[in-house]
Amino acid sequence: MRYILSIDQGTTSTRAIVFDERGGIAGKAQQEFAQIYPRAGWVEHSPRDIFGSVMGVIAEALVMADADVGDLAGIGITNQRETTIVWDRRTGRPISNAIVWQCRRTAEYAEKLRQDGYAPFIYERTGLVPDAYFSATKIKWILENVQGARERAERGELLFGTVDTYLMWRLSKGRIFATDYTNASRTMLFNIHTRRWDEDLLRLMDIPACMLPAVLPSSGFFGVTDKEILGAEVPVCGVAGDQQAALFGHLCTHKGDVKNTYGTGCFLLMNTGDKAVKSTNGLVTTLGASAGEIPPYVLEGSVFVAGAAIQWLRDELGLISSAAESETWARRVKDNAGVYIVPAFTGLGAPYWDASARGIICGITRGAGKAHIIRATLESIAYQTQDLIEAMKRDSGLDVNFIRVDGGASQNNFLMQFQADISGVGIERPQTVEMTALGAAYLAGLACGYWTMEQLEELKGGYTRFCCSMSGQERLAALQGWKLAVSRARLR
Ligand code: ADP
Repeated sequence: MRYILSIDQGTTSTRAIVFDERGGIAGKAQQEFAQIYPRAGWVEHSPRDIFGSVMGVIAEALVMADADVGDLAGIGITNQRETTIVWDRRTGRPISNAIVWQCRRTAEYAEKLRQDGYAPFIYERTGLVPDAYFSATKIKWILENVQGARERAERGELLFGTVDTYLMWRLSKGRIFATDYTNASRTMLFNIHTRRWDEDLLRLMDIPACMLPAVLPSSGFFGVTDKEILGAEVPVCGVAGDQQAALFGHLCTHKGDVKNTYGTGCFLLMNTGDKAVKSTNGLVTTLGASAGEIPPYVLEGSVFVAGAAIQWLRDELGLISSAAESETWARRVKDNAGVYIVPAFTGLGAPYWDASARGIICGITRGAGKAHIIRATLESIAYQTQDLIEAMKRDSGLDVNFIRVDGGASQNNFLMQFQADISGVGIERPQTVEMTALGAAYLAGLACGYWTMEQLEELKGGYTRFCCSMSGQERLAALQGWKLAVSRARLR
């Protein structure tokens, strides 16, 4: 029996899944690791913890699958995006903790880039808006704040990588120094049109080019693992950032295909094929994963607070004891009774981009109760997603007929039905929820000849489908209510 190993290195935990030829899960393991908060708004991980957790889950998943490293046909890696690691080329030692995507320490510098008028230039090259979220400002911070770092970087002694790069480097004992298009496109240093590191951006950020990894297609040969580290030489042949891996896992490989991941936040991605769509609604353009040499362009939007609003109902308001219970409560009432919740806890993202907005509950009448509030919170996840879908349709000129979904909150049938109703689209929820890991496995399996694209289409399995059952008039009225609520959440 031969298998594909998928390593899913996420923000709070690391998973390894051993997939068999049928795409079934033969073994699986998960480990959490420490989140480090040195100051308010700062988030770090220890690269050693990350690598340790990866080695741990690989061993565990292989035991569960009753397999050896030698049984692996290939390895796929998917990872938390943008998180930045800089290490010594010779010793392999990181010169600081990893700066996590959520970390806001470089917000001021990103704001300065905006104020200095660099936003259009950065957008044109990278498809991104200047923000602390992306790797570029984090690398710069390390070079400027770790003693001696800049000189060492200029002498070619230091390497930069996102987590995929660091893992490959460690697994191969320094022989693989590479990343893939999807991860590179989140650094804010990569030109998504020429598909090269952008020299002008490197100059602007003052980052030496010799620190940067080679950039390769997501599905292809990156190199082999080291025998001493893993026990055998296994090809690493699939790499993609988590959201793009999930998009590929859903087999959203055609222009206009859309997936939404309902987790703590939501990530909505649309494959726009060979056309880079210029957004006028504050969405970002990025690169997707593909089976071939050329990556597709992807339009991406995110909802900051989605499943997190359900956690808020549970932990702050104490209205429910588990996230799943929200569904039972929502079904107890026939509608929201005019109650809307806008969970703008940290402001509003696309298409509003209003950092000063704050959460509100509005439209309360004497008959409104707990069930209405819970229902309105679930509905807010769908409304925020609908705002993004609308923006994507406007930007791309493409129709959205169905959306493929995954993530914890996609298990909520009420939410999925409401999304279908309010967006007037079909929702397709696959049986397996491990779309991110599956996407990385698919990319690896295609590259090493384990699977063909046709086989993957066959493996896809069934979907639970939700179809729109709301009249156009009802939808319009509901959306008007939402827009009004959003305007009330905004201060300006
Ligand atoms: P992440 O990867 O962002 O940690 P997950 O995909 O594991 O997120 O999903 C967890 C989130 O989904 C939590 O915020 C939780 O509140 C929400 N969630 C999980 N199950 C349900 C459910 N049945 N209904 C609504 N929300 C849910």
